[in-house]
Amino acid sequence: MKLVLLGKPGSGKGSEAELLAKTLKVPQISMGDILRSIEREKTEIGRMVSAYIDKGELVPDELAMTIFKERISKPDCKKGLLLDGFPRYLEQANELDKLMKIDKAIYLDVPDDLIIKRLSNRRSCSNCGAVYNLITNPPKKEGVCDKCGKDLYIRNDDKPETIKNRLKIYNEQTKPVVNFYSNKGILIKIDGSKSIDEVHKNVLKALGKSA
Ligand SMILES: [Zn+2]
Repeated sequence: MKLVLLGKPGSGKGSEAELLAKTLKVPQISMGDILRSIEREKTEIGRMVSAYIDKGELVPDELAMTIFKERISKPDCKKGLLLDGFPRYLEQANELDKLMKIDKAIYLDVPDDLIIKRLSNRRSCSNCGAVYNLITNPPKKEGVCDKCGKDLYIRNDDKPETIKNRLKIYNEQTKPVVNFYSNKGILIKIDGSKSIDEVHKNVLKALGKSA
């Protein structure tokens, strides 16, 4: 089964992608992972990717697409795959459409205000990178990491203004992708405001698979 998984930042997409790939035994493919693994290969393309990332710049779309195409042509993708957070723009959705037939696109639907609430309650450890949530997964002692005892802080990415900005970008760039799959009649919309377990159960049910 060839699947696309879409969701706003903070929609729980990462957790669901991991569970779903494991349950369906298909490779989980995200552009970020592909670029990171290419970077480790000391090839010419790897060095090009490194150069962009080191400068803090985005890898140009054309180069990213070339690398992506190569990845999905590998044997482990023949039987099925799960594209995690890809396509991000309408142009990429059109490109992908020429490359392979996607069976279903799953969209984890979470209202913006819940996303803001979820993400603004995130706290990260300044030392070991552990992530907490004041509501769903609070540290034992306020402001202190359970694992290493160092201070917790709010990452820039998790500040309300940044979250609003990320959501705005998402709504502009990726909403058209959701509509693209909806128009094709292969979009599955799942209520992403539920718990991780419930979301996973509902996704499997919608795909006609049991847990
Ligand atoms: Zn820590």
